Amino acid sequence: MTAVPETTDVLAAAREQVLGRGEGLTEAQVLAVLRLPGERLSEALQLAHEVRLRWCGPEVEIEGIISLKTGGCPEDCHFCSQSGRFPTPVRSAWLDIPGLVKAARQTKETGATEFCIVAAVRGPDARLLGQVREGVKAIREDGNDIQIACSLGMLTQAQVDELVEMGVHRYNHNLETARSHFPEVVTTHSWEERWDTLRMVGEAGMEVCCGGIIGMGETVEQRAEFAVQLAELNPHEVPMNFLIPQPGTPYEHYEIVEGRDALRTVAAFRLAMPRTMLRFAGGRELTLGDLGAEQGMLGGINAIIVGNYLTNLGRPASADLEMLAELKMPVKALSDSL
Ligand code: SF4
Repeated sequence: MTAVPETTDVLAAAREQVLGRGEGLTEAQVLAVLRLPGERLSEALQLAHEVRLRWCGPEVEIEGIISLKTGGCPEDCHFCSQSGRFPTPVRSAWLDIPGLVKAARQTKETGATEFCIVAAVRGPDARLLGQVREGVKAIREDGNDIQIACSLGMLTQAQVDELVEMGVHRYNHNLETARSHFPEVVTTHSWEERWDTLRMVGEAGMEVCCGGIIGMGETVEQRAEFAVQLAELNPHEVPMNFLIPQPGTPYEHYEIVEGRDALRTVAAFRLAMPRTMLRFAGGRELTLGDLGAEQGMLGGINAIIVGNYLTNLGRPASADLEMLAELKMPVKALSDSL
């Protein structure tokens, strides 16, 4: 890690290094951005926006997600309402194949290019993989050519190969937080186990989608640590979530991330990963509201999830599409991503 000389202003350095040469910030530099005073926030967001436009282009990718299997997960991720270990209101449920096909069709109709099938599990068993196989086939038989991503927990090599063979082109598996903070968040599996799945996914040629949640009691130093750990993975996409304290979970009384902190983190993550698709995922409505969401879109974000999240209602897809139209940001077309 290269230390930043005290005298170098981090945004001036970032302009040359990240905007000019496409090299992401170091951990020390990310930390300096996260510590910028409030009056320099708009400058950081502006630079992050320029970086996004230069290295990713003006398009915004839209994705819809659907839960194939909700709740009843044996793991203990402290933020998650789908863990069966906490007394949350979420009950275990399966979606049927016609429901999946319908959701995929509705997602395509919003203009989305990506449809992600999610299951609340430690890892898939034969039944779940069979459901996914059947679901992918039924979506294609419906004449829907939307790209299909999956998020099914930790995988074995054989399962990675099976998903590739089904035509799943992107796999989501979040590292959730910095390696040093992970044991505070999850005790039933390790950060390294998650990392192994991501490595296999990348090596098999699937696009790697890996992000996490901001606001789970991590320090600002750990946020910087997380940004560079993600950058090291070189993911195609990073979904950024802000904690929604879920009733019944150990984090139910955690405070919502303050809007300016959330925006600082958006800018810092963009400056750490100039070429990665940075997606607004859960919690943006609560943390940022409509105005903050626009600032994020003008501060480094270039992808969104439309409609509802897994167990939380989002705002209607039309509201996001209107926002993109107002911001004059083109929606990425399916033909561009094939
Ligand atoms: S493995 Fe996934 S679904 Fe299960 S508790 Fe953790 S975050 Fe929730």
